[in-house]
Amino acid sequence: MYTQVLVLNASYEPIHVCDARRAIVLIVKGVAQSEQNTPLMLHSPSVAFPVPAVIRLIHYIKIPYRKRAYSKGHIFQRDSHMCQYCGTTQPPQSLTLDHILPQSRGGKSSWENLVTCCKKCNCNKGDRTPKEADMVLINKPRPLSSYFYLHLVRAKARDNHYWRKYLYYE
Ligand SMILES: [Zn+2]
Repeated sequence: MYTQVLVLNASYEPIHVCDARRAIVLIVKGVAQSEQNTPLMLHSPSVAFPVPAVIRLIHYIKIPYRKRAYSKGHIFQRDSHMCQYCGTTQPPQSLTLDHILPQSRGGKSSWENLVTCCKKCNCNKGDRTPKEADMVLINKPRPLSSYFYLHLVRAKARDNHYWRKYLYYE
């Protein structure tokens, strides 16, 4: 049931979701402490551990947000499914990812170099930079912010009553 555990930074900022086994390992190692337990127990041959719903790291860790894995869907969400060149909003199947500096010219697949782009604009732009193609970006692409990540965790947590007070600031 509550196999997913919310991981808070020492500052109470939600930073991650992990499974119960991993959470218990962190507690046993003294890396984290339980903030909220479920009524469930996890049994090992010699001991029984209460299954946590929420754990908190003992020491604050700095999260390198810009290094987080991204997916096409995350970039679309960041850009609100809006083509960053013509400004039209479209369903995911009509959108593509554009490398601002084309990959063929050394452009990286990073948060800062990828934007949501409709098929038409992507075709127009081709293998050129926006400047060369005379196209203007609507928004400067940002790295994944902690706020955005929190939004993703919140979406996952909607039905978990143990997590609510840590995520919705009730
Ligand atoms: Zn477009």
